[in-house]
Amino acid sequence: MGSAAAWQLARRGRSVVLLEQFEQGHHIGASHGSTRNFNMAYAEPDYLDLVTEAKDLWNELESETGTQLLDLVGLVNHGNVRRLREVRSSHAERGIASHFIPAAEAAERWRGMNFRGEVLVVPGSGRVRAADALVALRQAAEAHGARFEYSTPVRDIRVDGDRAAVVIDSGEITAHRVVVTAGAWTGKLLGGRVPLPELVVTQEQPAHFTPLDDSLEWPSFNHNPDPDDPRDAYWYSPVYGMLTPGEGIKAGWHGVGPVTDPDARSFTPEPVQLEALVRYVREWLPGVDAGSAVPISCTYTSTANEDFVLDRSGPVVVGAGFSGHGFKFTPAVGRVLADLADGGAAPARFTARR
Ligand SMILES: Cc1cc2nc3c(=O)[nH]c(=O)nc-3n(C[C@H](O)[C@H](O)[C@H](O)COP(=O)(O)OP(=O)(O)OC[C@H]3O[C@@H](n4cnc5c(N)ncnc54)[C@H](O)[C@@H]3O)c2cc1C
Repeated sequence: MGSAAAWQLARRGRSVVLLEQFEQGHHIGASHGSTRNFNMAYAEPDYLDLVTEAKDLWNELESETGTQLLDLVGLVNHGNVRRLREVRSSHAERGIASHFIPAAEAAERWRGMNFRGEVLVVPGSGRVRAADALVALRQAAEAHGARFEYSTPVRDIRVDGDRAAVVIDSGEITAHRVVVTAGAWTGKLLGGRVPLPELVVTQEQPAHFTPLDDSLEWPSFNHNPDPDDPRDAYWYSPVYGMLTPGEGIKAGWHGVGPVTDPDARSFTPEPVQLEALVRYVREWLPGVDAGSAVPISCTYTSTANEDFVLDRSGPVVVGAGFSGHGFKFTPAVGRVLADLADGGAAPARFTARR
């Protein structure tokens, strides 16, 4: 999110310095790894506006850097079809392509997966190449004059009227605006200086599984438990997943990992949850080896209703609480944060005092 804000501000001719506490490409926050779902299956207008804008901006970033960042392999949503009907009607209102197919037809097309009930197919969705996106955002921002400084932890932010001083080990930087996108460390860094809803940091543990047949076609997927079906009682949450080329099929529970301190993480999966994920994979992803789980450790910073926080308080702009579904929106979030820094506003849904 910070890299996207830097790109959006620098391309408007603002002088920008980005400060990151760890080295480039670190695996200690929320944005590492090769893939993220690019899923347009939202019913809410604010999110559909943001993801539609993000798609255009991902394309702009691709042409600015000459890199491919989106793989629109399609995304299938199944389970809790009542919710999916709402998504389909929002799509219909906006001319976003999506359609329902029967479970048998989906299983015929995607032989590595099992389906129950109708399946909402969203052809214009798929994956974002996450690691490549971080490199491209830096490249594009620096091409417009931004400066990225890694291994430079911000120790404090002091507000002084309409300006702020950012304290780092080598001294202070005073700035017209400070955009804080500190992920799991947001609460620690801002410590009540700006109004924020409660942010809960969890350690999430999806895993990659080895496909049994490399010729199988894989969409990205979201699977919601059927609330009235006792067979789903062992589920921790909805499941999301996708193919990560070279690493396997990623599958994970959403937002149910152990609450954690980002500076005191175990980086090891909670075994009972992992076992339940393996059971899910055995039942629903017959195209992979359920015994081949390679866990990933990553942080979510979640708000109670999973709505993002995009707001400004004096000279401090905040982007936080992306609740495990922010990556797809990244360049559009960067645009909103740049607007906030320039005195503009964010959609009411995302303001801290909502
Ligand atoms: C397992 C997992 C799966 C996900 N899957 C999806 C998906 O399929 N689709 C999707 O859209 N989203 C997904 N997400 C969510 C998405 O990855 C996040 O919303 C997004 O990466 C958040 O980005 P961020 O910039 O806020 O956080 P981060 O990338 O964590 O960035 C915060 C940065 O601030 C730095 N920082 C913190 N404090 C300081 C300080 N004091 N000084 C300097 N630097 C500091 C940190 O080191 C860190 O690099 C997933 C997330 C996880 C964890």
